[in-house]
Amino acid sequence: MRDGEALRLALAARLESARARAAAAAFLLVGAEFVSVGVTPVVWFGTVLASFVVDRQIGQACLRRRDTLSSGEVTLLGLWVLTCSAVYSAITLYFWRYGGEFGRSFALIQGCASLVQAAIQLRSIRRLMALSMVGHGWIILLIPSAAGLAQFGPTGIILPLAGFGVFLSLLLQLVRHSAAEQDDLIRAKREADLERAFTSSIIENIPNLLFVVNARTGTFELINKAAERITGIRRDDVVGRTYEDFYTPEAAARLRSLDAEAVASGQPVTFEDETIVTADGATRTLRGRHVCVAGEDATPRYVIGVAEDVTDVREAEAQVVRLAHYDSLTELPNRVLFRSRLNAAFDVAAAGGEPAALLWIDLDHFKEVNDTLGHLVGDQLLMEVAERLKSAIRAQDTVARLGGDEFAIVQTALVCKSDAEDLATRVVSLMGQPFHLSGRAISIGASVGIAYAPHDGLTADELMMHADMALYRCKQTGRGGYRVFEREMNERRRARRTLEQDLRRAFAEDSFAIVFQPQLNVRSGRISGCEALMRLSINGRAVSPAEFIPVAEEIGLINQIGEWILRQACAEAATWPAGTKVAVNMSPAQFKDPNLIRTVISALAHAGLSPDRLELEITEGTLLQNNEANLTTLFRLRELGVQVALDDFGTGFSSLNYLRQFPFTKIKIDKSFVSDLSMSLESVSIVKAIAGMAASLGMQTTAEGVETERQLEMVKSYGCTEIQGFLISQPCAADELPAVFARFGGEMAARPSPAGSGDAELWLATG
Ligand code: C2E
Ligand code: MG
Ligand code: MG
Repeated sequence: MRDGEALRLALAARLESARARAAAAAFLLVGAEFVSVGVTPVVWFGTVLASFVVDRQIGQACLRRRDTLSSGEVTLLGLWVLTCSAVYSAITLYFWRYGGEFGRSFALIQGCASLVQAAIQLRSIRRLMALSMVGHGWIILLIPSAAGLAQFGPTGIILPLAGFGVFLSLLLQLVRHSAAEQDDLIRAKREADLERAFTSSIIENIPNLLFVVNARTGTFELINKAAERITGIRRDDVVGRTYEDFYTPEAAARLRSLDAEAVASGQPVTFEDETIVTADGATRTLRGRHVCVAGEDATPRYVIGVAEDVTDVREAEAQVVRLAHYDSLTELPNRVLFRSRLNAAFDVAAAGGEPAALLWIDLDHFKEVNDTLGHLVGDQLLMEVAERLKSAIRAQDTVARLGGDEFAIVQTALVCKSDAEDLATRVVSLMGQPFHLSGRAISIGASVGIAYAPHDGLTADELMMHADMALYRCKQTGRGGYRVFEREMNERRRARRTLEQDLRRAFAEDSFAIVFQPQLNVRSGRISGCEALMRLSINGRAVSPAEFIPVAEEIGLINQIGEWILRQACAEAATWPAGTKVAVNMSPAQFKDPNLIRTVISALAHAGLSPDRLELEITEGTLLQNNEANLTTLFRLRELGVQVALDDFGTGFSSLNYLRQFPFTKIKIDKSFVSDLSMSLESVSIVKAIAGMAASLGMQTTAEGVETERQLEMVKSYGCTEIQGFLISQPCAADELPAVFARFGGEMAARPSPAGSGDAELWLATG
């Protein structure tokens, strides 16, 4: 309830009853006067009416202030009442003196009537008038009693005494009544004050925004502290002003329509996420309700608006959604959002709508950048990649980061299949251009796998799997391009998965075998060493190392397999003729093993083999990846005395830079050049060039895959120092080697005792 409303209603009720009683008194008195004398009713009527008017005016003034009468008003009322009393008394005494019997009767009635009137008036707010009436009645009754006791007999005594008694009791009642009423008023005022303070403290301290608008005029009546804080509108400025004075026309119209709805329905009207612009230009989001409050006459009086500032909540919710759906580094959609977009595109395509394509993208050489230049540069690179990818797509497509250096694009509404291939070409070309970061140009590249919806999958999951397969094929057959999914890839994938399982089982069951292929020194005509080659047979089928080694690398089994063959090879070599070397192939992946050097030392020590009888064959891949760290490892191995050969030279980059970077003991010319010698002059030139260059660098040269005497003669004449190939021997089991050694004039040594003896021990002591 509004301030002092209770007090105001109480006073209004009292005024109403006062009016009713005054009217009743007037009626009674006028009736009595009519009976007594013709002239006095006019005077009575006039004075009663005038007192009613004065009373009403003062009563209303009192109501307006919602308080008791002021001292000025009391004086005014008192003067008015005394004047009326004086007139009454004068008229009555006049009648007493000159009216004869009738006049005295009238005077007596007049005195009694005054007392009755006083009693009536006492119950209303006109106390002073009542008191004056009592005095007036008593005087009138006293005069005749003093003047003519004999004339009236007992009536002459009883009436004045009764009048005096009534006067006294009225006086007492008045004093008591006034004191009680004053107490009531003070209590009511205190309660109203307390109530007002309580209400305003609630209004002030609720954290929610609260405002009151006049339902009729649409102007603000008040706003609370929270409203002031949230909207930036000053409370002093708000009263009497409208929404339009503070908000944009649209926001004001929306607020006004909420008011109108609340007024029309009489029900609270809720609103969600209403945006307002505050006085300082900030945008806040509010949620709340408008409620209409009716007045006493049940007509809409106020609209109260209560609202909660949900800006921070909404921002937090948006942030949660962002985190859940976007990658925090690149701000691209993440896997979750990507999935939902892919599902949507797939559903459209599957339902016969526009076809879509899924492009699965993997960055080439990103890992090397991350490893060599650090994660900070890696992150910057990913952000730059994201920007380039965004620039390659249309607004309706989605590019997402799936994790690491893996990205995907959902391309919707394809017109023809080549749309996806065009996009893939664009992506590959954009990724192929150098990235300029931290003052250096970084070259990476990308491989892309494409699958079409609905053609390449029955579900979105299958589509993803097939795009991934196409990507895998792309990476296998040379990076920096794209591949479209083909059904046979599925078969290959399945076969590969089976091979993975077979490999794990073979390793667990120790089913790997090792064979040795002799290498012949063309000058001495003796076996200089043997290359250890791994063999695996699955269900009776021989699986080529070229097939299973890459899989072993991928599934992380290469280190264990590599260690196994290293130990076996060293142990066998210890039984071979003195000075005969064993060559062991090393995968680039093995160089990531921080224990590699320790493993080599341990294998040599256990076999009792001198380090210079072990030759590790690496390919260019080892120098390509993580160059610095791998070079350090290679130098460390060389320091230990281990020989290092560069295998399959001529098939990769064949960068001469590698030969400058590291002092290889041997270069192995790939068998593809040797097999071509009789047909290709280029191959002849290449073999000659490699052999010549190796000689000038003080390195040995091994021609691989020599199968014929002719090839032997040729490579020998070009300067190759060693040959390896079926002409000398097929890779053979360890127990077949003595015969091969014997054929070339070598003898097998006695098997040494295991674990650390002979030259290996010496070497270990120094290493
Ligand atoms: P590689 O190191 O170049 O091995 C030589 C390959 O040439 C062997 O194939 C060998 O059997 C084959 N070869 C030798 N002489 C001739 C010949 O006169 N004519 C023909 N056509 N081929 C000949 P293989 O054993 O199938 O090995 C293939 C590749 O697998 C190896 O090439 C090597 O890179 C890798 N590999 C084999 N064993 C291992 C291993 O234990 N560890 C690692 N990391 N890789 C291995
Ligand atoms: Mg090799
Ligand atoms: Mg080779």
